[in-house]
Order: sequence, then C-alpha cells, then structure tokens
Amino acid sequence: MNNRTDAEQRSISVKIGGIVQGVGFRPFIFQLAQEYELCGWVRNQSDGVEIEASGSRWNIEGFLRNIPSKAPPLSKIVRFEVSELPFSACDGFSIVKSQAQEFRRTLISPDVCACRDCLEELFDPDDRRYRYPFINCTNCGPRYTIIQDIPYDRCKTTMAAFPMCPLCEQEYEDPLNRRFHAQPNACWECGPQIWLEESTGRLVGEKDRAIRHVVRLLAEGAIVAIKGLGGFHLAVHAVWENAVARLRNRKIREEKPFAVMFRDLDSIKRYCGIAAEEAKLLSSRSRPIVLLAKNTAPTSSSIAPSVAPRNRFLGAFLPYTPLHHLLFDQSPFDALVMTSGNQSDEPIVVENAEARTRLDGIADYFLFHNRDIHMRCDDSVTRVIRQLPRPVRRARGYVPVPVFLQESMPEVLGVGAELKNTVCMTRGNEAFLSQHVGDLENVETLRSFENTIVHLKRILEIDPRCIVHDLHPDYLSTQWALNQKDAPLIGVQHHHAHIAAVLAEHDMSGPVIGLALDGTGYGMDGTIWGGEILKVEGDHFERLGHLRHVSMPGGSKAIREPWRMAVSYLWSLAPENTLAAYGDLLDRWPREKVKVLLQMLDKRLNSPITSSCGRLFDAVSALVGLRDSVTYEGQAAIELEQSLCECADKYRGEVRKEQGMWILDPLRMVAEAAQDVRDHQPAGLISARFHNGLLSLLVESVAKVSEQTGLKRIALSGGVFQNAYISEHLEKELAHLGFEVYSHIEVPVNDACISLGQAYIGAHRLRAQGC
Ligand SMILES: [Zn+2]
Ligand SMILES: [Zn+2]
Repeated sequence: MNNRTDAEQRSISVKIGGIVQGVGFRPFIFQLAQEYELCGWVRNQSDGVEIEASGSRWNIEGFLRNIPSKAPPLSKIVRFEVSELPFSACDGFSIVKSQAQEFRRTLISPDVCACRDCLEELFDPDDRRYRYPFINCTNCGPRYTIIQDIPYDRCKTTMAAFPMCPLCEQEYEDPLNRRFHAQPNACWECGPQIWLEESTGRLVGEKDRAIRHVVRLLAEGAIVAIKGLGGFHLAVHAVWENAVARLRNRKIREEKPFAVMFRDLDSIKRYCGIAAEEAKLLSSRSRPIVLLAKNTAPTSSSIAPSVAPRNRFLGAFLPYTPLHHLLFDQSPFDALVMTSGNQSDEPIVVENAEARTRLDGIADYFLFHNRDIHMRCDDSVTRVIRQLPRPVRRARGYVPVPVFLQESMPEVLGVGAELKNTVCMTRGNEAFLSQHVGDLENVETLRSFENTIVHLKRILEIDPRCIVHDLHPDYLSTQWALNQKDAPLIGVQHHHAHIAAVLAEHDMSGPVIGLALDGTGYGMDGTIWGGEILKVEGDHFERLGHLRHVSMPGGSKAIREPWRMAVSYLWSLAPENTLAAYGDLLDRWPREKVKVLLQMLDKRLNSPITSSCGRLFDAVSALVGLRDSVTYEGQAAIELEQSLCECADKYRGEVRKEQGMWILDPLRMVAEAAQDVRDHQPAGLISARFHNGLLSLLVESVAKVSEQTGLKRIALSGGVFQNAYISEHLEKELAHLGFEVYSHIEVPVNDACISLGQAYIGAHRLRAQGC
C-alpha cells in the first residue's frame, strides 16, 4: 500500500442486516477482502455483520459490488449500509470477536438440506465422515430445530451435549474452513449417533449397521419410525400396497394422502409430471413436499393406491438429511412413504421416549438418534399454480424467515385460528410466522402452540405489547389469549385477517377489494362467514358482499357431514315442499334422517346461518354422490375438484344488491346441478359446470364491487383458493379484466395465514394509537 497516495485510498464502514450469522458470512467477507487486498476487520453485531475496510478506491468498489452477488448460499441480505470513514492505514484483514450487546436482533436461518460438498464427503470412503448421518457445514444442516436460545452458539443448541473432538474443533476455528463456526459440526468421533430398536425395545444395531439394517427392513415392507430433523417420520416401502395399507390402518388416518420421498428427480418422473418450477422447488434448499399431478398411465411399478386414494395428486419430496441419502444408497426401492410420526391429528413426535409410547403399535422398528429436536417442525407442503409456489403448509426449511414489511411496527403477537394454526410476531419491519402448529383440537397441540410462542419470544427477543386473536370465542387460541392477564387484547374478524395477510405479504396498506373464501369464520353479525367480499384498508374493513345465506343443520356436524349441506340447499330451493320437489334426490340418504333435518330447517333449530363457500362445495360434492361425510377438512371440496373434467359449460348464479349488500346467489347453480344429477350426467361434468359457474359468479360480483368503489386491486385469500382450478382461472380472468390481483406466495392461503393478518392489523392499530 506504500506505493499509493492517500488520495487514491478510501476507508469505509459497512453494516449488513438479514440472515448473515451462522451461514459463513464472516469467512466470505474475509476471503473477499483478501481478494481485493483490503485491510480492516469484520465482526458479528447485534443486528447483523459490521465491516471496516481500507484500500484503493477501485478495490473497495469491487469489494462492495461482490458482497451481495457472491454472498453465501444461506445468507439473505435485507439491509446494506455503507458509510465513508476518514482514511486510516492498517495491516491485514481479520475476523474480530463480537461485541456483547443487549439486543441480538440477527435473523436465524431455517434448517436446510445437505449441501453438495457434504454429500460428496458422505459417500467418499476416504473421508473421515464417510457415511456419517449427521454431516453438515456452514452451508447446510439443522438450525431452527436445534436452537434453544440466542445468540446462535453451540452451547445454546441441542449440540451442546457433544463436545467437539480436536479435528472438528480445528475446522470450527479456521476461518477458511467450510465448517468455521458451523455450530452443529460433528463427526463419528464426537457427534450424535444412531441406533435401531425393535418395537419391544430390543437393540438391533448401531451406527452404520443400523442404517444398512433399516434399508433391508424397509425393502421387506416393515414400518419404521425414523427420527429426523423436525420430528419423527413413519416410513414404509411406497410401492407395496399391503405395507402402506397396514400403516394407514395403524395410524387411524383413513384417507388423508401420505407424502412420498423419492430417490431423485428421475424417480419422481416415472410417477408424476414435473414442470420446471416444480423441479426447482423440489430441489431447493428448503426441500418441501410438492403436490404433483400423478401420471395417468400406470407404469410397471406404481405407487401403492392407498398412498393417496381418490387423489390425482401426489405429495413428493427429495431426501434432505444425510440419513435420507444413506437410506436410498444402494437400496432396492426408489420411493418411501415418509409421513409424520404421529397418530391422526396429534403433533408430530420429537422425543425418543415419546416415540416409544405414542408410536407404539404403529411402527415395527425405531431408528433413533441422540441429537435432541428442540423445536418441532413438520415438512413443508407446497404446490405450483400459474408458475408460482403456493405454500399449503409452511414449516421446515422456511421458518423462521420473516415476511418483510414496509414499515417498522410495534411488537405484537397474533395467535391464529383453530385449524392449521400458526402464530405470528412482529418486530421492526419483520413479521415472523411460526411453523405449522396444527389443529388446536387436543391438549398435545395446545401445548405445542404454547411452546412455540415461548420459543419465538425467546429467540426473537420479542415482548408483545398486545395479543391479537380471532373473534370466535370457542377457538382454543382465543381462549388462550383471553387468559393472558398482562397484555391488552385485540379481536380481529377472521376474513379481515385473511385479506390483511395478503396486504402484509405484498407490503401494501390498501385499499383493496378482498375476496375471502373458506369454510368457516366467526362473523360480526353472529352468522358464520366464509364467502366474503370486503373492502380492506390498513386495520379497517367493510363488508360489501357475501354468498347467499343458507342454514347449517346440526351446526358443526354439517361440516363433517356434507350431505346435510346438500339437504339444506335443496330445502332453500323449495322450502315449502322439499320432499315433493326433490324426494328422488333425497332418497339417497335415510328418509328418517332427512325428515329430521328438514324439520330442523323449517323451525331453524340448531341451524346456524352461513355464507360459507366451503359449505357450498360440500353441498355439491354430496349432491353428485362424491362425499356424504369427510375424514379431514376440505375433503369433499378436494374430491369435487379432483373429479373435474375439461368442459367450458357452466351453471348460472346471480349477483344482486339487497339493502346495500351485494349477494352472490348460487341457488340456481345448485338447481341446475340437481337437474344434471337427475339426468345422470357424470360427476366430472357437473363439477366442471359448477366450478365454471362459481368463477363467473365471483368475477361478476368483483366487477360490480369495483364499479361501486372504484378499486382495481383484488386480494384473494382463504382455503377455497387451495383449489387450483379456482385460483388459476380466477386470477387469469380478473387480470384479463384489468384488475391487479394479489395472492399468497410466501404463506399459505388457508387458516395458517390468519396469525400474520392478525399481527398486521394489531400492529397497525397500536401504531395508529401512537404506541
Ligand atoms: Zn454442507
Ligand atoms: Zn468430531
């Protein structure tokens, strides 16, 4: 540097925020600084990474340009501030110790799949980690699921129990090593180990012998509980119908589809079609389960029918932990059912002792390991619609990456809905949506919900200034919120939260026309909402329209038994003489039961009023004979969508205004469907006509509301949009008509997004009050 003049030289300070710790960022900066012959230092800061560097003007510019473009794969830069310093000469570049800070607001990386470098070592017989199932480095491995507290250091993860051996320690301390400060760094010598037990508890094998043995057992059709990254899986050979059916029986999961892990993309292609976007998602670091269309022509070796009965789609994913890769190594199978290790609707099992009791009677064998899972995290599920990823369940690989907001917000907690619950916390301009918690219908899930809140508060250092909950008084999340003594509460209407979640995701404050279509949400007028057109702006909303009211005979029973909704719609068509008008159709169900239902409808007994779109799907599904009762949420609607055949015909609904409110009336559509059933038209055709008719009804009503309000922005949310046909066509048609259409891409469209909408509304309301 001596041969240059000061005038040509420059000193700068750089502050970088985002996911920049625990992802190899400092070694990257160190190497880049050397490449550009800079001197100075880099260190971790409370809220990211801080750099001071001096060098020639030209080199400084190159250095700055390359930080964002060459940053390590797991990093995510959201803030990049450069300021000039008075020039100071120095010697060399170094990584210096972090300053202790009161706040440590750095972002934590989600868990990511094994990287290529680690896989090469895994299968290299000369490598000291040959076939070691917990191999990882700064670019891959567990994160969110093993972190107990911050800062993200080994001693505050479940790796604390494994002191590093000298060789691992050396890698860990070397800034130029791929494992520099890789907190879960481990090897055969010092790290976690794996072993195999029979269901009786008898030890079958340890370490590599255990893995080789499991491959043989799976090939023979055994059901093996395998401890993974965010919980246990139940694994079984996916081609053997007997084995899969046995698992289905034991799990008490009648028809909900199982996910299948495939050896590689080529093996998936033998069973499913894969578009470019889907291939990209499947191989992404998050490795979600992707819903793919099954090939219609069965190949010689098909996936067992009971993997996804009555479903045109298959949830497929690729191996993501080193152990998964070992299971497929030299194995005779290309596909394994890998479903959550739980019994029906309970949370996924994470602890060894818990697995022995809760999975007793389900698994024949248990493949255990001794690295604790601190945070439960299910596999994420996603599907591609109009070339964009649409999350169905957001968990492993995505959490805790926040949704970034436009403005800084007060700290609030949204506790979510009842089904597909998640929670959400805001901090600055970040909204942290938790992993999928599940349906809050049992004590185990409620406990998991509470643990998730405690955990997020701790690792994000958030102290919520208010708690936002749904208006439904019976939701366990609402009741939990009402029991918190120390924080003010805000109640938010369910569909308002749905649309607000879209606003949060797209960084908007409105006003928009929100179309919220789902099964059930507590309304402001004591009825059950679920087919709503709202005008939403910031934390305010106004209801401008809704689906025609019908009754739900038997209340929540009508959700589990869609045939009740069919009867209700037929009753609405001919309330005076339902039996005379539709006796032939009603004959499908026991006459005594039908009579009781009709009496309930006549007298409005235990028949709450609803504008739910999900219930309309239920009614049509039952009417065409697809589903009289369901075993999981949305099943009747899903099967109606699955049955759909290509056809441009449609039924005709009606949009009208009643007392200032737009009414979307599908009654005539149901009448036409009933006529088609009488005429023995195939279910697929009726389904297509119904779907097309509903699309027209929605487009027409949105157009009318737009005319009235002058708004051209439309936000779509609610479980009904999991229907790919509805989502795809509605988005296309609205865009074609010149609307700006906003849908969910980062978070699920179902009730999992409610907590994000709640947090967004709560934070806006607090801010408006000057908090
Ligand atoms: Zn790696
Ligand atoms: Zn070691």
